[in-house]
Amino acid sequence: MIELTVSPIVERKIKQGICVLDTQDFPEVTMTNTMVYLQSQAGQFLGQAYLSSQNKGIGWLISKQKESVNQIFFERLLFEARKKRKSFEDSSLTTAYRLFQQDGDGFGGMTIDRYNDYAVFSWYNEYIYSIKDQIVAAFQTIYPDVLGAYEKIRFKGLDYESAHLYGQEAPEEFTIFENGVAYQVFLNNGLMTGIFLDQHEVRGLLVDGFAAGKNLLNMFSYTAAFSVAAAMGGANETTSVDLAKRSRELSEAHFQANGLLLENHRFIVMDVFEYFKYAKRKGLSYDVIVLDPPSFARNKKQTFSVAKDYHKLIAQSLEILNPGGQIIASTNASNVGLEKFKKEIEKGFMGRKHRYLQTYRLPSDFVINKNDESSNYLKVFTIQVEK
Ligand code: SAH
Repeated sequence: MIELTVSPIVERKIKQGICVLDTQDFPEVTMTNTMVYLQSQAGQFLGQAYLSSQNKGIGWLISKQKESVNQIFFERLLFEARKKRKSFEDSSLTTAYRLFQQDGDGFGGMTIDRYNDYAVFSWYNEYIYSIKDQIVAAFQTIYPDVLGAYEKIRFKGLDYESAHLYGQEAPEEFTIFENGVAYQVFLNNGLMTGIFLDQHEVRGLLVDGFAAGKNLLNMFSYTAAFSVAAAMGGANETTSVDLAKRSRELSEAHFQANGLLLENHRFIVMDVFEYFKYAKRKGLSYDVIVLDPPSFARNKKQTFSVAKDYHKLIAQSLEILNPGGQIIASTNASNVGLEKFKKEIEKGFMGRKHRYLQTYRLPSDFVINKNDESSNYLKVFTIQVEK
């Protein structure tokens, strides 16, 4: 095994329990797609890691001991991971959730989701992709009840991003349940599946009536999952705004899967900043506004980043929010921590009186690495705006 001597900074991070290896901490390393032992400058063994560059870092610590990484090793991790999801497995109200979450479940670089009887594997780097056969074999041993699986490629270099992986093929589109609400999903069309599973507690809040009797505006709505949850929880009207043309059809499918009539639910294909202007011009206003943008987006006219621009979404929302209304402020930007996000929100309020109600982080199936705050990337606040 190759031994790699690391700086005192890396040594400290490893001792803290951080697993992701930051690119800037390894300026001289050119090796890639290999397993290594990490040692301190004093020659102390620190742990076993693999190197492979990905969006987040250049590799992952996978153990503080020396391990044989083989099928048995993955069976052990998957068995432990399955135990942690027992409450989801036992629930008939929720049939789609995360089965394996990166370093939170002991191995960074992959996630596995369940959609009814099918699984979706996401590979985040070339190394994990190169050992996928043993991971898949281990998975089939621990989950004999899963009928078939798909894979998503979340690194550069391959000529496909989604494919069937093994077993039975899922229908092109089918219905899953979450908190008793139906959503229409697809497992083999690009990287997305029609729903972001990490938001199930926030959708749960809406299903439980957070927007009951209210008029909700859902910005960056994608397939309008928040709107469906709100409608099922008794919202009077919803308006879903997204730039992507395909969003309308996908949104309607979620509504139809629940037998909801579309009369009081609108789907608008438009830039959200255009929609804010349009709503003001038309005198439209809302009781609840959901703001869940991508971390970073670029269109013809401008770029948007949560870190710099979120405050504009809050400021614009306040102009079309009914007195006593609520804002659901959400981001999954891993470069923006909870406090920084709050600061950005405060900037948008410009002194206007408001009160934080609930805070949501990743739900329990998205097991975080409790030693690494940045692994808990989801941040959602519900905010009461005072009259
Ligand atoms: N809130 C959604 C997920 C949002 S994903 C959910 O809960 O499912 C981000 C979405 O923002 C994408 O669908 C993308 O098309 C849309 N988007 C990005 N920039 C936009 C813009 N300027 N105006 C409107 N939609 C935008």
